[in-house]
Amino acid sequence: MNNTKYVFVTGGVTSSLGKGIIAASLAKLLQERGYSVTIQKLDPYINIDPGTLNPYEHGECYVTDDGAETDLDLGHYERFLNIPTSQANNVTTGRIYQSVINKERKGEFLGKTVQVIPHITDEIKHRIKILGNTGNYDIVITEIGGTVGDIESLPYIEAVRQLQWELGEDNAIVIHLTLVPYLAAAGELKTKPTQHSVKMLMQSGIGPNILVCRSEHEISEDIKRKLALFCNVKKQDVIQSLDAETIYDVPNLMFDQGLDRVVLEKLDLCSKKQPELVAWNEFVQKYKNPKQTIEIGLIGKYVELHDSYKSITEAFIHAGSTHEVKVNVRWIHSEEIDTDTEKHLENLDGILVAPGFGERGIEGKIKAVKYARENNIPFLGICLGMQMAVIEFARNVLGLSEANSTEMNENAACAVINLMEEQKDVTEKGGTMRLGAWDCELSKDSKAFDAYQSTLISERHRHRYEFNSEFKEQIENGGMKATGINPKTGLVEVVEIPEHPWFVGVQYHPEYKSTVLNPHPLFLSFIEAAIAQSKK
Ligand code: GLN
Repeated sequence: MNNTKYVFVTGGVTSSLGKGIIAASLAKLLQERGYSVTIQKLDPYINIDPGTLNPYEHGECYVTDDGAETDLDLGHYERFLNIPTSQANNVTTGRIYQSVINKERKGEFLGKTVQVIPHITDEIKHRIKILGNTGNYDIVITEIGGTVGDIESLPYIEAVRQLQWELGEDNAIVIHLTLVPYLAAAGELKTKPTQHSVKMLMQSGIGPNILVCRSEHEISEDIKRKLALFCNVKKQDVIQSLDAETIYDVPNLMFDQGLDRVVLEKLDLCSKKQPELVAWNEFVQKYKNPKQTIEIGLIGKYVELHDSYKSITEAFIHAGSTHEVKVNVRWIHSEEIDTDTEKHLENLDGILVAPGFGERGIEGKIKAVKYARENNIPFLGICLGMQMAVIEFARNVLGLSEANSTEMNENAACAVINLMEEQKDVTEKGGTMRLGAWDCELSKDSKAFDAYQSTLISERHRHRYEFNSEFKEQIENGGMKATGINPKTGLVEVVEIPEHPWFVGVQYHPEYKSTVLNPHPLFLSFIEAAIAQSKK
């Protein structure tokens, strides 16, 4: 038995209120108060994981060290808490049903009828307690995706009700996040949607312990009193969450409102120390007071939805703060670069060609690489972006006009990027890529080594194709060097052009490991090169 405490975060009224940021901010404060905390996200959709989802559906797919393809909120958890998450931190309805159905097939239910209650709810409770049972955490915060009242979140709400009943209210509490909208015509904040949302939660047997109310305007003491009265909470447990200038302000805003204090009180925990957020606040200060602005072009095919590249833009913020510059992102659709490359890319201080899948837009990505290479603009290619850099080099420097990836053309005459051997027999799409953390050995004489200051690194992956080693000698002789190699398999992880001021392509995703307290070395180095470029 351990004494892990559980905090559930539910949402009401509308989606997109920022449950993930509230959960991460609370976790940050509790961590600062001396507790070990982790955050878990339960997603009520039926996909086993978001790995098969199009970014337009769900934004970026975040990848953990242990190779889980997860919701992008896990990225926020890691960026705020500076500790890694894992497979257990993200669970979907699909995964819950999959394990219950697998058990049924094995006969584990001994002839019983398998039902939502108790079998699905038991599985949900089991998944919630997995993190607590590791003994690694004093507090587990579980964010329930979706909005209260959704048909698909009912089993989760029921599981939370049962857990709270089983564990007791001083071991498991519910924070309900709602919206208090401002009606301009009436000149008033309206509490009715929150009242209805809490009623809905109560019909499911849960009385929230704390209300966090998102609002564009200051919530007066009177309104707090009213919300308290109608929603069965104490006035001090109504917390306002005003729109913030940046998500990184939210921990301080929640501290000012006393969210962490009321949570500890309800869980019967004392504060081990006062949260000081020293390093955090230093980061926020520098982020808000840049000495200069630089502009990086982000070339991708999902640029209409910025969330598709969440970890990349956050990594820019972390590195930008360290260097005291504001990093403006110019969002450039790879399909649009096809014509008039110059018009789209001129005056950029750096160019990042983003990860991606499939053929759409790749010629534009290749043109962007060419532009960066020929004009000496700092270049970072991530995953597909690195593969495009290799193709561009083969075509335009080595004169291999047929150079391509077999992802784009299965019968490419000159496949400089090739399907990995272990992928050749893979037919299923879900969870079958080369995923998670792998080692990489860096050559000492490289930009990558200069950035990491270490020859052995570990980074996260999500791909099926790789640099075709048959071309390694030819490509290296031409002036593009393989400077990072997987020590076990020989797979090329990093390519660079030493002649160029800063040209680095990486098969892995450095963006997943950038956090507020540990900005990623490669992003730091890329931004440094972009600053130098801006001064030219
Ligand atoms: N589509 C490429 C591959 O599978 C790159 C993947 C990515 O950018 N994450 O290898």
